[in-house]
Amino acid sequence: SCALIPVFADQLSDGLASLAAGVPDRDLVVMAEVAEEVGYADHHQKKLAFLFSAMRHFALRLRGQGWRVRYTRLDDPANSGSLTGEVARAAAAEAAGRVLVTEPGEYRVAAMIDRWPEHLGLAVERFADDRFVCSPGDFARWAEGRKTLRMEYFYRDMRRRTGLLMAGDAPEGGRWNYDADNRKPAEADLFMPAPHRVEPDAITTDVLAMVEARCGDHFGRLRPFWFAVTHDQAEAALDQFIAAALPRFGDYQDAMLRGERFLYHSVLSVYLNAGLLDPLAVCRRAEAAYYDGHAPLNAVEGFIRQIIGWREFIRGVYWLHMPGYTAQNHLGAARALPGFYWTGDTHMACLAEAIAQTRDEAYAHHIQRLMVTGNFALLAGLDPAAVHRWYLAVYVDAFEWVEAPNTLGMSLYADGGLFASKPYAAGGNYINKMSDYCRDCHYKVSKKSGPDACPFNYLYWDFLDRNAEILGANPRLGPVYRTWGRMADDKRQAARDSAARFLARLDAGERV
Ligand code: FAD
Ligand code: SF4
Repeated sequence: SCALIPVFADQLSDGLASLAAGVPDRDLVVMAEVAEEVGYADHHQKKLAFLFSAMRHFALRLRGQGWRVRYTRLDDPANSGSLTGEVARAAAAEAAGRVLVTEPGEYRVAAMIDRWPEHLGLAVERFADDRFVCSPGDFARWAEGRKTLRMEYFYRDMRRRTGLLMAGDAPEGGRWNYDADNRKPAEADLFMPAPHRVEPDAITTDVLAMVEARCGDHFGRLRPFWFAVTHDQAEAALDQFIAAALPRFGDYQDAMLRGERFLYHSVLSVYLNAGLLDPLAVCRRAEAAYYDGHAPLNAVEGFIRQIIGWREFIRGVYWLHMPGYTAQNHLGAARALPGFYWTGDTHMACLAEAIAQTRDEAYAHHIQRLMVTGNFALLAGLDPAAVHRWYLAVYVDAFEWVEAPNTLGMSLYADGGLFASKPYAAGGNYINKMSDYCRDCHYKVSKKSGPDACPFNYLYWDFLDRNAEILGANPRLGPVYRTWGRMADDKRQAARDSAARFLARLDAGERV
């Protein structure tokens, strides 16, 4: 009998396991744009438009491959509003006997599928998502018995498993990690690369009109919209990255420049996460660029590490610790998210820049997310659940499996250091070293306290002071706590006072 094959917004891959298990002229692919998914976060308008347009294009692609596809648009009057509802409607219309489904990216959706057999009265066959190198089960076995999880060791296993940048049993060039050669501050020049841009076609134009009409109150600017929405367009974006940006990817990975929103980053997470690009194929392309002599090893190794290292590791952490991971708050942080996270309306130039570009592009690169918006949230003691909801909403690449461990674990230390050996806390000096933001900021990065001092400077010390009971025993923080301890009393008090004044103004909703 006919099987239903639901395909979710982040499963837009030809080789999806549940599609491979189905038969095109017998089974029915079910795809739906539903209010439930639109509403569970205040998703950026560009994110909604990207996903809906990519889904509609993928439905066409599947039809071209001979599949029957039942596709429900968000504005279809008969839309039940939920994924379960849409699968139930398809089951009734088709007298379907069973469901074939690839494991979803998010726990919330997996829990929903758990209820399908009872709810739909159908047998549900689940398939592992083999678009990842490491399955949740493999990760759990790797993690077993380890007190702390370190990405670096996991990454070496993934290098061995994939053979990427391996010379026999040894890493190419003799070292596993070339980060020591990376992390230079950048300077703007005339030859900065830019991500591949695609003009909206008729399908995207329709989606943009629908998102504007139905979700126009969501965060972010919808236009100009330039994301790739098909596999071929995403391939073109990959080509452009390899040709223009990869060679300097490593050098400027941690740099930030005013007005330069993408630097040498790939802006490929959005396509990888939705399934338009295959992670391993992307890594093989980068590897080939090294062997062809087009890109240096430090760049290619760094890029591959982000994908088979960090991306896989983060996913492993998520599935190992869900449910419950997203509710953690190790430091007991409780401050409400300041309004400027939605408007960019702050005197702090680094935050204003990162948030304005987030509003415009639904994109910020890693160091902006980690060391600007994330670092501020950590230092100011913002409620991790609120910060998590923000990150889940505002980025086009945000899916909970990858967003949550990055936000709660890497950035906020809300998981108590499951994989970060210490909080990524930094004062204004770090931002000044890696960016040109401080040059024309309202605040002075060289000043440590007082009304015109950079808030990151005193908030940094105040954060350590406030959390001394929890963090004081961390050996990696020993040197900074000793520095704090040796500081003259009046300097320490000045930092505390400045922080108290700043945080009171923040809580009162004043412009800071
Ligand atoms: P590049 O710098 O070009 O890196 C190449 C690829 O490596 C990325 O496309 C991505 O697939 C992968 N990658 C790099 N770093 C990470 C990482 N830490 N975790 C997982 N994959 C990584 N990434 C998301 O995909 N979705 C999110 O919702 C998300 N939320 C984040 C929240 C916070 C607080 C932080 C600190 C990081 C978050 N990241 C998230 C990770 C990272 O910032 C983005 O993957 C990256 O900025 C995407 O831009 P890019 O494609 O230009 O990346
Ligand atoms: Fe940000 Fe401080 Fe630099 Fe201003 S001075 S841009 S607040 S780090």
